[in-house]
Amino acid sequence: MQKNNAVLIEDAAESLGTKYKGKYTGTFGDYGIFSFNGNKIITTSGGGMLVSDNEERISKVRFWSTQSRDKARHYQHSELGYNYRMSNVVAGIGRGQLRVLDQRMAKKKYIFEFYKRELGKLDGVHFMPINEWNEPNYWLSCITLNGQIKPIDIMEALEKENIESRPVWKPMHMQPVFCRHDFIGEGVSEKIFENGVCLPSDTKMTDDDLEKVCC
Ligand SMILES: *Cc1c(COP(=O)(O)O)cnc(C)c1O
Repeated sequence: MQKNNAVLIEDAAESLGTKYKGKYTGTFGDYGIFSFNGNKIITTSGGGMLVSDNEERISKVRFWSTQSRDKARHYQHSELGYNYRMSNVVAGIGRGQLRVLDQRMAKKKYIFEFYKRELGKLDGVHFMPINEWNEPNYWLSCITLNGQIKPIDIMEALEKENIESRPVWKPMHMQPVFCRHDFIGEGVSEKIFENGVCLPSDTKMTDDDLEKVCC
């Protein structure tokens, strides 16, 4: 990064609480971002967070996000500004949610381990590997299939039981809007997209709910 003079912005949107080799995600790059959208491990109903060690840049971002108001009595703008402020209501929700992050992570881990115990032995079903150097937040339990069964078969079978599941995210470089742009990679994300299914992972799920998905 430094060598190439590149700025690294880490998309840690869904990984709040996760550690890689003892270090929290979102703290590896020059900047990290987290999402507090409604589907994340904790939420403020919407919005997110930018983190950085660079105080000077963070205060610049804060300046832009609060309409780039110059230090003057009247409203004066020498730079283009944005209204990306967090409201006090949202901040209040966020502070409350932070307190339950540990509980949420524990429940998400429980869900992951439930699925893994019930489904992990099936031929051709794989779960995300948990290594001794990573401590995920288990936000979403996903499986990958070995090609014989397709994600659509699983999703349709679940749908018949009124259970919602989804494909794993389509990689950015495969999105039509970015089709003209270069990308770096060796096909890993494509493979996961082709073979992956996201299982229901809501922290309100009961053992009965989890069993119903597995059976
Ligand atoms: C959720 C998510 C986003 C989008 O976050 P929003 O707050 O919904 O804009 C982007 N990247 C990743 C990896 C995510 O999980």
